[in-house]
Amino acid sequence: MTHQNEKLQDLNENNSMTSSLLARNGERLKILASGTTKLNNIDLHNVLYVPEITKKVLSVSKLTVDNNALVEFDTNDCYVKDKLTGRILLRGKLRDGLYQLSSVNSQVNKDPCVYMSLKENWHRKLRHLNNKVLEKVLKNCNVKTSSRDQFSFCKACQFGKLHLLPFKSPSSHAKEPLELIHNDVWGPALILSPSNFKYYVLFIDDYIRFTWIFSLKQKSETIHAFIQFKSLVENQFNKKIKALQCDGGCEFKPVQKIAIESKIQFRMSCPYTSQQNGRAERKYKHVTELGLTLLAQTKMSFTTGGKLSLPEFISSTDCLH
Ligand SMILES: [Zn+2]
Repeated sequence: MTHQNEKLQDLNENNSMTSSLLARNGERLKILASGTTKLNNIDLHNVLYVPEITKKVLSVSKLTVDNNALVEFDTNDCYVKDKLTGRILLRGKLRDGLYQLSSVNSQVNKDPCVYMSLKENWHRKLRHLNNKVLEKVLKNCNVKTSSRDQFSFCKACQFGKLHLLPFKSPSSHAKEPLELIHNDVWGPALILSPSNFKYYVLFIDDYIRFTWIFSLKQKSETIHAFIQFKSLVENQFNKKIKALQCDGGCEFKPVQKIAIESKIQFRMSCPYTSQQNGRAERKYKHVTELGLTLLAQTKMSFTTGGKLSLPEFISSTDCLH
């Protein structure tokens, strides 16, 4: 609520004559309009214009909801912080029983050294130390920090230490079975199976996401697995494989030859960019974890009791989709 309407925008005077506030002394104060304004970078919506009030009043619940912020109070101060980063957006001082927020022209945020949290300050002083070590150092040096003093995000660290920008999820998906097949080879396994298998190759259909798995003794057998897979699915679906996505492994060289002869588009990931073959990479993780879980379920030891190797064990089960 404010008694000044100069800074209010998008003024709405529709219900001005019917709305009023009941003051502590029983007097009714008319609400003449409502509008929006900004306090530093904080958006304030539905601000009521009441000319007769003497102080501007802020609703904490509206402030936190509208700005994804949190508000902390202590005996002398209050802070409005960004909920995600913990950055202080506004600071208030306790005066006459009320917390008075700094005005629009205050120094808040103009000098980040003054208003940053204690942990963030030490993080910078100690040359951007990681959080775990920072906590240990502060504890050993008896530097007291509040449990509310959360610091988990440093923009400078992101710019300086990140090696790769995040990859976006692919926006294109196959529209029918066999339009795109992802594949990759896993291995060697630590333990040979009784049939001497130590690799496995996955074929994942981008449309139905069904996975076919073949055990291999050598990586060079990938080509045989592909020929077997190709004739199986093309016969079952009565369609031809249109595109094949794999990484740059040399085991795919003979596969590439077959693919070109069969008019299949052969797509290879760029070097050191396994994310481009992410669907197959994620499936590996899933298959490996599934294998370990099945071993745990049957109480078979991976090294001794499990007579089947992980790939063979997984391929012998019928639960991979
Ligand atoms: Zn940092």
